[in-house]
Amino acid sequence: MTAGAQPPDPMMLTISFLGTGTSHGVPMIACACATCMSADPRDSRLRPSIYVQSAGASVLVDAGPDLRQQALRHRISRVDAILFTHGHADHILGIDDVRRFNAVMAAPMPCYGDAATLDDIRRTFGYAFAPPAAKGGGLPQLDLREIRGPVTIGDLDVRPIPLFHGDRPILGFRFGNVAYLTDCNRLADEAWGMLGGLDVLVLDALRERPHPTHFSLREAIETATRIGAARTFFTHMCHDLAHAATSARLPPGMALAYDGLVLESGS
Ligand SMILES: [Zn+2]
Ligand SMILES: [Zn+2]
Ligand SMILES: [Zn+2]
Repeated sequence: MTAGAQPPDPMMLTISFLGTGTSHGVPMIACACATCMSADPRDSRLRPSIYVQSAGASVLVDAGPDLRQQALRHRISRVDAILFTHGHADHILGIDDVRRFNAVMAAPMPCYGDAATLDDIRRTFGYAFAPPAAKGGGLPQLDLREIRGPVTIGDLDVRPIPLFHGDRPILGFRFGNVAYLTDCNRLADEAWGMLGGLDVLVLDALRERPHPTHFSLREAIETATRIGAARTFFTHMCHDLAHAATSARLPPGMALAYDGLVLESGS
């Protein structure tokens, strides 16, 4: 199945990994390390995003600077909403490309995020919210909606999961029995009780060495073990983590995600 097709079973979710790299992407500009020079396509990582499809809804999580390329690669022709984890550049800089989805959906794009993230979007894309003047190629039409609790998009129930990205509170999201927790180095206390019975956990794992705002691989494995999902996939990796070598030493049930990976999960 391609990411652009609808899953046939209404109880199924399809998760497509559009990007699994850290903010620099892999390969990184002007780096000749073994991972950046690798011929393994799983070592090429765009900026982090997933596309989630249920029978009646299709949503993006984040809209990073590679959104155009990701939408073309996955033949994405429908986006009912965008859920934003936080307002860092690698998660919002594709917003200008929402213009195409405004055209094909014939509607403003519902954009969900916490208050700080919506402020980041308003500030970073001020031109999209300014009074209309000469529009050139047009402006993205954004319908900003603050997340204060669970939201429903079509038939898709979305539960925000409170995380910490350093000192900054951000959001992960749970869809059915799938949770996507990127850009975090700590879960809020109340998050643990929201993560029972998971089929698929997607969790930040930046690199081996500790980092002030991201889980290291070891911390991510410890956290994933405690959460206990049936399957865990790591994301937001930098070039320190080569796909094949790192995957070979992960515990059972855990793997590095890679761009182009498509998972199905009974919801
Ligand atoms: Zn490199
Ligand atoms: Zn971030
Ligand atoms: Zn990030």
